[in-house]
Amino acid sequence: MAKRYIPEPFRIKMVERIKMLTREERIEKIKEAKYNLFNLRAEDVYIDLLTDSGTNAMSDEQWSGVMKGDEAYAGGKSYFRLVEAGRDIFGYEFIQPVHQGRGAEKVLFPTKLSEGKVAISNMFFDTTRAHVELAGARAIDCVVEEAKDPTHRAPFKGNMDVEKFEKLVNEHEGKVGLVVMTITNNSAGGQPVSVENMRAVSEVCKRYNIPLCIDAARFAENAHFVKEREEEFKNSSLKEITREMFSYADMFIMSAKKDAITNMGGLIGIKDDANLYQLVKGNCISYEGFITYGGLSGRDLEALAIGLYEGLDEEYLNYRVGQLEYLASILDDNEIAYQAPVGGHGLFVDAKKMFPHIPYNEFPGQALAVELYIEAGIRTCDIGSYMLGNDPDTGEQLQADFEFTRLAVARRVYTQAHFDIMAEALIAIKDRAKDVKGYKITWEPPILRHFQASLEPIE
Ligand SMILES: *Cc1c(COP(=O)(O)O)cnc(C)c1O
Repeated sequence: MAKRYIPEPFRIKMVERIKMLTREERIEKIKEAKYNLFNLRAEDVYIDLLTDSGTNAMSDEQWSGVMKGDEAYAGGKSYFRLVEAGRDIFGYEFIQPVHQGRGAEKVLFPTKLSEGKVAISNMFFDTTRAHVELAGARAIDCVVEEAKDPTHRAPFKGNMDVEKFEKLVNEHEGKVGLVVMTITNNSAGGQPVSVENMRAVSEVCKRYNIPLCIDAARFAENAHFVKEREEEFKNSSLKEITREMFSYADMFIMSAKKDAITNMGGLIGIKDDANLYQLVKGNCISYEGFITYGGLSGRDLEALAIGLYEGLDEEYLNYRVGQLEYLASILDDNEIAYQAPVGGHGLFVDAKKMFPHIPYNEFPGQALAVELYIEAGIRTCDIGSYMLGNDPDTGEQLQADFEFTRLAVARRVYTQAHFDIMAEALIAIKDRAKDVKGYKITWEPPILRHFQASLEPIE
């Protein structure tokens, strides 16, 4: 039985028209796009689930903040408002705005990583992995085993495997430059990390004197799951949970385009290391912009300061995660496998299960993404071997732990009927799954290939 849909805790006062092309038109458009969904024009998409990044609907409060944004080059009011909000929510002394999450990675990572170093994470996001490699280091994922079985339901499938982590630290003695905890664990399916796990990772880091960084894009959704699933925190506020979580790390990087409900922005937070902050300020001025704007307009800083609080609102998070639980419950009824339980920002369909006849190097996740567009004008993306790419040392195709197609849901944008269309499209594709073909790459760039590559169906 489908779960009840939790009503939107807001009403709509501005709308944006969307239209649906015919099936024939969509077949033509995706061919022209070389079967890469990033190449489609957004106006040719009906429901855009490519990402939840920067695609969110801002509130009336945020839009009024936009009008108050202080556009001074140095020392603007909006900068100070943002720093205050960051200090208040995360309990860190130094808050540095940057233009988006990868800006934070580019500014921070070279201060800790270089040739010969490694960075270990519960699981690196694609740009985060790329910036580890661009700094000259190697990235190692160390997620709990249970995350690798999509049908195995567990409360915190985003966790680090602490035992394996400590083994890795010993294997790479003296070479681990940074540990990164991604909350929620995006690449594992938006799966949360428990406070208990963060404590255990932090304890190992302290023992070996390794700095611990949180990749904090979905810190609020993670806090929601901690409150729901971790006994110790059932009576805590989401802000208290956030403070507790961040108290175990030394620094964070954040894409503010996710839980901070903005269209652009990012943050670096440093708990108390003034020397590190000095290095960050230097890199920020070179790569992003002066310290008090970090590549953003004053109006972006203002909207971000407000969005950090709105993203932590419990009613809003109940509704947001509830949308995905509603969709997941329909898929359960129709025996469509996904990373279960459903994550905070998206539903990751198990494309390997849907297309057992398509091997990893013919990209089942990408095949399902193409089918969803053809079926209903829904744009999604592959989170699997197609995204993972090639080994930077050997150039060989890597095999990912999963072959997912991610339906990422923008915040406060789509309503119940849109979710019904997503479910219907997946059910229709499941019924004709055996006829769906795999893909081969006809051109690819050396890094982050999934954004730009060209593909062709294998006939
Ligand atoms: C989106 C994201 C990033 C990169 O942020 P951008 O704002 O897209 O540059 C890094 N890490 C995680 C976990 C993300 O979800």
